[in-house]
Amino acid sequence: EDPEGDFVEQLELQDYKLISKIGEGAFSKVYRGVPRTESSKSFLFKTFKQVAIKVINKKHLTSSQKDSKSKATSREQVLKEVAIHRTVSASENVVSFVDFHESPSYYFIVQELLAGGEIFGEIVRLTYFSEDLSRHVIRQLALAVKHMHSLGIVHRDIKPENLLFEPVDFEPSPKPMLRKSDDPKSKQDEGVFKPGVGGGGVGIVKLADFGLSKQIYSTNTKTPCGTVGYTAPEVVKDERYSLQVDMWGIGCVLYTILCGFPPFYDEKIDVLTEKISRGEYIFLRPWWDEISEGAKHAVRKLLEVDPSKRYNIDEFLADPWLNSYDCLRGQAL
Ligand code: ADP
Ligand code: MG
Repeated sequence: EDPEGDFVEQLELQDYKLISKIGEGAFSKVYRGVPRTESSKSFLFKTFKQVAIKVINKKHLTSSQKDSKSKATSREQVLKEVAIHRTVSASENVVSFVDFHESPSYYFIVQELLAGGEIFGEIVRLTYFSEDLSRHVIRQLALAVKHMHSLGIVHRDIKPENLLFEPVDFEPSPKPMLRKSDDPKSKQDEGVFKPGVGGGGVGIVKLADFGLSKQIYSTNTKTPCGTVGYTAPEVVKDERYSLQVDMWGIGCVLYTILCGFPPFYDEKIDVLTEKISRGEYIFLRPWWDEISEGAKHAVRKLLEVDPSKRYNIDEFLADPWLNSYDCLRGQAL
């Protein structure tokens, strides 16, 4: 373990010892840390042997305040992220919020540590996931989104970098390696071992990063936040479907983990934007040839341009492919 004082942030953080850097975002650095036994919050030591601490540099925030569209531009936004993280924390598939600390130069958001890191890293490692591993991951993402949407909160930044996992030792049975998991009798794939094999070690999957999250509905009143009476129809419509942006996000993640590349890509940002706005994607051969019709159907229903036709979270949770037998866990859910 690194000696103390290696990180300047440590000087303004008493209750936790920073151990090593584990992640980085546009406005944050994330460290692995441990609660100090001698601290006033030492009770946390019993619950959380290790934590992840998202450190946001205040200097960083002020210098980037000019680009108004940027993610975190003010103290209010950090406090909003913390408030939402607290609110959604009580789900098995959401990274638990632990603590928040503000010092002269930094904000510290303390969370449970997900030792596996990003699902993004697993895509890089395995190239793409088997259908069983994809289902295992995406079902847990869907449960996290269900929890958030039932609280009237939209995540708005669903991507493999914000999906974290707990590693698990798991010896795959021979079958889950086959791509045609929906058709166990299929002979044509037999013996064809693919990456994503057994999934290696992806256990529990949790959604992180509430920096772009937004409260859409108040759960008490079941009404949209803000004044309604004078709101224009297109805004009302937007509000009604605003939770649906997460469903598109789930669709992009599902597409990506199944084949190893994203549904929409172009080096030129304006071309990419145009493709997305038209929903212009294909199941590119040969990568998609062996992927089941059930999986493709789920992707189609998620990457539907019209948000009113797109799967909502309850519809996706009832999807036949999502609910088909889970070879990885040996259970039907
Ligand atoms: P940003 O808002 O800057 O994107 P994130 O909250 O997404 O910050 O954190 C950045 C990265 O740090 C993540 O993509 C992940 O790699 C790592 N990270 C964040 N939280 C945790 C955690 N609880 N456990 C493990 N790694 C984490
Ligand atoms: Mg992030």
